[in-house]
Amino acid sequence: MFESLSERLGGVFDRLTKQGALSEEDVRTALREVRVALLEADVSLPVARNFIKTVEKKATGAAVTKSVTPGQQVVKIVHDELIETLRGEGEPGSLRVDSPPAPILMVGLQGGGKTTTTAKLAKRLKERDGKKVLMASLDVNRPAAMEQLQILGTQIGVDTLPIVKGEDPVTIAKRAKTQAGLGGYDVYMLDTAGRLSIDEELMSQVEAVRDVANPRETLLVVDGLTGQDAVHTAENFDERIGITGVVLTRMDGDGRGGAALSMRAVTGKPIKFVGLGEKMDALETFEPDRVAGRILG
Ligand code: GDP
Repeated sequence: MFESLSERLGGVFDRLTKQGALSEEDVRTALREVRVALLEADVSLPVARNFIKTVEKKATGAAVTKSVTPGQQVVKIVHDELIETLRGEGEPGSLRVDSPPAPILMVGLQGGGKTTTTAKLAKRLKERDGKKVLMASLDVNRPAAMEQLQILGTQIGVDTLPIVKGEDPVTIAKRAKTQAGLGGYDVYMLDTAGRLSIDEELMSQVEAVRDVANPRETLLVVDGLTGQDAVHTAENFDERIGITGVVLTRMDGDGRGGAALSMRAVTGKPIKFVGLGEKMDALETFEPDRVAGRILG
């Protein structure tokens, strides 16, 4: 579908004379192509601009190694810089779940994959880290969402907090905390309600839950295919709630992954995991080089 960046740059540099170092003009010509590739991959304009500026500084005057063409050289500089930007602090995929029972707050918009990701993550914590996990749905507006989590829990062999009709989210969060302590759980996960868009009611509800639970991790689950919208969602949730990491879902789709770069540049928060399908095993640690490859095409 897309012409890869290496192909484009190959064409650009074929037209230029061979030189020992990348000239300013070579770099500028090449970076025009890089910019197009970034925008096609759904990287936001301001982020793409800043990114190009950084690469321009690094690439101008860089010696061209004999074994590569100038085009390959620029692609390498761009690739390394993408990885640098995409990589967050700390071990990829790590979660602070020491001092039991450790609360994990899951936030995001409705339909982003929050409930599915809660269960996927619970399964991972149980199987990889040997943690005893309790999941609780706080989505009081959608009984179907509560049942969905319960069904997933049964499927993966992870306990869910029994549903009590008529409770508000804060009361459920408190009950989850008590139950997690009494039941000897290592981790309890709070799956908050989503809305179709960010609104005041959603944010104050999540804030109240956060204040009660005092989460060790607050993970924002966003649909990686929604590009700029995903970045706005992340900005909003981070400002209001304070997130500790992001899970990008639907990375099995044909998106080019540009949202990941914008998200990192805008919020500075680490992308911890990616969702790669509907199945309970379809969750992987975020790998910057894979996404960099995808953005470059
Ligand atoms: P929530 O409203 O945010 O809790 O969203 P759900 O967890 O109910 O997910 C909405 C739909 O997206 C469901 O059909 C999920 O199976 C699907 N889904 C979630 N994560 C992924 C993913 O990584 N890839 C794909 N292809 N589908 C996903």
